[in-house]
Amino acid sequence: VMVLKARAQKRNIDAWLDATAITSGAFLLYWVGFLAEFMSNPNNPLNTVALSTVYNVIVFGAGAVLLRIGATPGQRPMSYKLLGVAGVSFVIADIAGAISAANGDGILITLALSPIVYGLAFAATWHPSAGEIVRLPDVAEDRLSNFRLIASSLALIVPLFIAGAPAARDGMGQIVALILATIITAALILRLTRLLRSQQDLFDLKVEREATERANVSIAQNERRFRALVQNATDVVLVLDASGVPSYVSPAIETITGYPVSAYLGRSLEWTTHRNDWDDILHSFRQVLKHGESQRVEIRTMTSSNETRLLSCVTTNMMNVDGVGGIVVNATDITSERLLESDLRTAELFDPLTLLFNRNTFIGEVSRAIRENSFTQTETAVAVINLDEFRILNEGIGTEVGDEVLIETAARIRRHLRIGDVVARLNGDEFGVLMTVEHDPEQITEPIDRILTGIAKPMTIGGHDLTIRATAGLAIDSDGSLTGVQLMRNADTAVDAAKESQRGGVLLFEEQMGTEVSRQIEIRNRLRHAIVNEELRLVYQPLIDIGTGRIASLEALARWNDPKLGEISPAIFIPVAERTGLIVEFGAWALRTVCEQISKWDAAGLRDFSVSVNLSGDQLRDPAVTTMVASAITDAGIDPERLTIEITESILIDDDEIISKRIQEIRQLGVKLAIDDFGTGYSSLNYLRRYEFDILKIDRDFVTPLADPKNRRERHIAKAMIGLAHALDAITVAEGIEEVSELNALAALGCDHAQGFFFYRPTEVAEVAEVLWRSASVRHQQLAS
Ligand code: C2E
Ligand code: CA
Ligand code: CA
Repeated sequence: VMVLKARAQKRNIDAWLDATAITSGAFLLYWVGFLAEFMSNPNNPLNTVALSTVYNVIVFGAGAVLLRIGATPGQRPMSYKLLGVAGVSFVIADIAGAISAANGDGILITLALSPIVYGLAFAATWHPSAGEIVRLPDVAEDRLSNFRLIASSLALIVPLFIAGAPAARDGMGQIVALILATIITAALILRLTRLLRSQQDLFDLKVEREATERANVSIAQNERRFRALVQNATDVVLVLDASGVPSYVSPAIETITGYPVSAYLGRSLEWTTHRNDWDDILHSFRQVLKHGESQRVEIRTMTSSNETRLLSCVTTNMMNVDGVGGIVVNATDITSERLLESDLRTAELFDPLTLLFNRNTFIGEVSRAIRENSFTQTETAVAVINLDEFRILNEGIGTEVGDEVLIETAARIRRHLRIGDVVARLNGDEFGVLMTVEHDPEQITEPIDRILTGIAKPMTIGGHDLTIRATAGLAIDSDGSLTGVQLMRNADTAVDAAKESQRGGVLLFEEQMGTEVSRQIEIRNRLRHAIVNEELRLVYQPLIDIGTGRIASLEALARWNDPKLGEISPAIFIPVAERTGLIVEFGAWALRTVCEQISKWDAAGLRDFSVSVNLSGDQLRDPAVTTMVASAITDAGIDPERLTIEITESILIDDDEIISKRIQEIRQLGVKLAIDDFGTGYSSLNYLRRYEFDILKIDRDFVTPLADPKNRRERHIAKAMIGLAHALDAITVAEGIEEVSELNALAALGCDHAQGFFFYRPTEVAEVAEVLWRSASVRHQQLAS
């Protein structure tokens, strides 16, 4: 019963059909072979027949049950097989016993076979595999095997044979045989039908299973691929549920945070996420679950060493994807990128050399100030400060020194700022200062003047003693009507204008400056062209020896007549040439032209005078200037004493090392040196002590007042200048004499030479010879008389 219960749990019609067919078959054989005759034998007592019937029903019933068990699919261990043999032996022993008893031989055969039956049953019980009898296979398979097909077909033939048996020919025996044959046939047909149907089911099942298997394989592949991608990537991949609890974390997490994967699994990520970011990530989860689209969030996570790392996360809903089943978060560590970005941002905002704001940032600040100040009734002022002659310094001594000068200048500007002022390096040698001011232009230029004075103080850089001067332009917005860019442009214009007329000082922007400056730009462009094509010329202004009245020397002065712009004064184009670097080329041309001209006059017999050439500060700082002068002299084959170099006083007072060195070099060539415009450049006796010079030219500003005899102070000053020059073995020249009174006054003071419109205007070279001849004849006349 136990085995039956265990193995035949399910209602298994097929097993019962098998059992019924086989039992019926066996009974049919038994019936036609023995039982039918026994039953119909009138000699047998009725009670024996009844007992035999009951007994046979029980035995065959038991056999059917045994067969039912045997037909059940399941494990067939040794114990099971022993039990089966015991059962079959029992039936055989019993039937054999019944037959022999009926023949009057007793049941000896049954008794003889009994030990085998009991022995086998006992062995089955005690066999170690006894426990396995009740174990069912995982899948019950009912296959239409060849064996089944043959067995069933043969069993169908059995009733046909039996139909012809003698015992089945009469009455009762025939009826029972027919019933049994019908049962067998019906059971077998039913069974075969079911087998065929189940075979179809099996086939369908197989197809289905194969499909499932294939699907399983692809899921497994996907999963393998997913892991392979994720396992080795530098990005971290996490699979989380909606509350942020990870079921998978890729190993890259450890390189980012220092925590192992195991630290993350199974608990909400809240513990490692920045407090302010936790809601963001949960929000993104809700979004991703609701709308399906991937979300991007940036969250800060904590590392094992308590540092904060910034992760850029992309969350994707993969809840319904086999092998994933969660929200997939793809996290990239962007901490260093962000830091780099902020570095770059710093570079965007600041000038890397001086660490001041750069031009763009400054313009932004100016715009902001204009907006804010328009509310507070204050004005916004922008000053642009430009270093003078910086380019020359940069090229002359080197960019390292140039950089240091810029850094020092930045520091000096800063030192003079007031609270709230903003300073920036706008470009190259240009700085900007933003100020908020009350309405009073005087008050505005004053702090800028202080800055300029601060810059102009001597500085020692890389072993060089330098003096850097700067010029400033100032522009104001009084009512918020200008943009930052416009205000800046005005300040730029003002500094350009200041460069022309107010070097070393500050100029406030005025409307018409714009046109002036654009004219400057035009001059600049055309000058380049003019110098390259030698469209400039030199005129010569004679200087008179006051004592003799003859021409003592000539000053070469540059002239430029541009076909479009007209006659342009050297006072205008020389500074332009300096700023654009064209001065070097121009200077070389001028010197060469003068030397050649001297040589020509020489050849023409005009000899007893010298010719002076003006050299600007920028020209003097050019390291090649000495060789340039030297080669101009030797190429023309003239006596260097015939040449005088004029240097304006203002470039000497700076005590500039380079200038000083150049002057020594040039003097060693044997040329004479004149100090031009004396008295205008904040005269310092110091440089008079340092440089040996041959000529001192008193500026027109000191000459003009002498026309009035009442100006006693000026007379004393002029007298002192002349006395000083003489004491230093130099001769004096009075510049710009237009009136005879001026000449008389200077003659009385002992001035040596005079220059001015009173005598000669600057003269075209073609006319100079004639002028010289006339002067020479005057001299002859003087000598004659
Ligand atoms: P500077 O060296 O002081 O030259 C003298 C200037 O005074 C000349 O002006 C001359 O025409 C002018 N002048 C002469 N006599 C009188 C007078 O009686 N009254 C008045 N009001 N002016 C008089 P210019 O030719 O316009 O030159 C202006 C400046 O340009 C020069 O001043 C000089 O610094 C510069 N310059 C001229 N030519 C050259 C040159 O070839 N090279 C360099 N580096 N600078 C030059
Ligand atoms: Ca001069
Ligand atoms: Ca002069």
